[in-house]
Amino acid sequence: MQISNFEKYVFPPEQMAYIKQLKSLTRRIYGDNPKACVVTYGCQQNVSDSEHYKGMLSLMGFEFINEPSQADFILYNTCAVRGHAEDRVYGNIGVVKNYKRKRENIILAVCGCMAQQSHVAERIRKSYPYVDIVFGTQLQHRLPEFLYKRLSGGGRIFELSLENKEIVEDIPISRDGELKGWLPIMYGCNNFCTYCIVPYVRGRERSRHPVKILAEAREMVKAGFKDITLLGQNVNSYGKGCDFNMDFADLIREINNIEGDFRIRFMTSHPKDCTLKLLDAMRDCEKVAHHLHLPFQSGSDRILKQMNRHYDRKTYLELIEAARERIPDISITSDIIVGFPGETYDDFKETLSLVEKVRFSSLFTFIYSPREGTPASVMDDPISREEKGKWFNELLALQDKIAKENSKSFIGKTFRVLCDDYGKAPGIMSGHTSGNCSVEFEADKNMLGEFLDIEITDYTNMLSGKIVK
Ligand code: SF4
Repeated sequence: MQISNFEKYVFPPEQMAYIKQLKSLTRRIYGDNPKACVVTYGCQQNVSDSEHYKGMLSLMGFEFINEPSQADFILYNTCAVRGHAEDRVYGNIGVVKNYKRKRENIILAVCGCMAQQSHVAERIRKSYPYVDIVFGTQLQHRLPEFLYKRLSGGGRIFELSLENKEIVEDIPISRDGELKGWLPIMYGCNNFCTYCIVPYVRGRERSRHPVKILAEAREMVKAGFKDITLLGQNVNSYGKGCDFNMDFADLIREINNIEGDFRIRFMTSHPKDCTLKLLDAMRDCEKVAHHLHLPFQSGSDRILKQMNRHYDRKTYLELIEAARERIPDISITSDIIVGFPGETYDDFKETLSLVEKVRFSSLFTFIYSPREGTPASVMDDPISREEKGKWFNELLALQDKIAKENSKSFIGKTFRVLCDDYGKAPGIMSGHTSGNCSVEFEADKNMLGEFLDIEITDYTNMLSGKIVK
């Protein structure tokens, strides 16, 4: 785990003052080695946010552990995208009551998209009186203040304002990895897809200034990162409405110009904002991975309209064709929702036919989960969960067949692979291709972090290969 240098950040001075005071306060309360447990649910944006929470907590002197029962400070960074993830959070919060019976000094905080919803905050306020701090997605930088106030005897804290127009920069960070890292370029979303809770819990789109992004990218490359993923709910609309004259295609060209051997990835793209200019930039920039994650959600134009997605099946397929024309070996992945309210089996068959046509490398598939406060949650939804489950399994079976065929077609071909992890046995390492396929191969553990040419020799449950260079 790398901890960025404390001194060089211009972090909001009042928060820095709280951090300094917490350094002695936590020792007085918890002893010499205060322990924090940060539990992260949901998407990469949350993982990235948690790296900032850990950065601030590190500076306060906390050590990190994975077991909440042993921690002095527990932070649940939650997700609101699916109902069952929320149920798990309520379950985990419930268990902390027992820990607090034994050690009443434990501080429990809940943040992230789930906590941002007012009905959730209200439920926590009423039914979980031992939750100390609840704060929203735009108040990340105020964690030191909240923790200080609560630890010095203040009342419970509920802060959910979503009004920050400015992005707070230079929040300390403690990254989880040393080779692969997240680099947020924007926050929030303006699209209001009818099933999605994100615009309500993360607020409107706000792009970071390119100077800040480029500085962070340079710093990551200097620190040895080899695979940098640019993050945003809709990266393709980067820079819209900003006073700097730069769109996403321009931004990746700038990052590509940074010296060093590393890969650039990005997620998530929205088909309505994915331009030919971006695809040209992907083709031209040698550091940009040959991978496009382009969620299409449904193959039926009728359902896409109901979802408020602002593209149709034809436009989506044209985009895929344009991407493959420019980058023939591009790996395309996508997200699909099965059983959107009002979807019929005929609509679903349109999804199946699109999957067959595009032959995605992999898919993230979900059964529709209603989210309180979204337009789709009040739409008629006559199809039973059981029926949707059958459709879902049909989709999985089709994608499984395609993914196997795709993988087998790689046998005999050579790919540039970033050796990024240890394999299942000594002498085996694993890594990822530019298209983000996972490969195992024989290699020395010293090769971790190197780009290697690997010839694919076999496929069973995953690709395996041998080093050719
Ligand atoms: S683009 Fe649509 S699905 Fe994606 S975050 Fe925005 S509203 Fe949600």
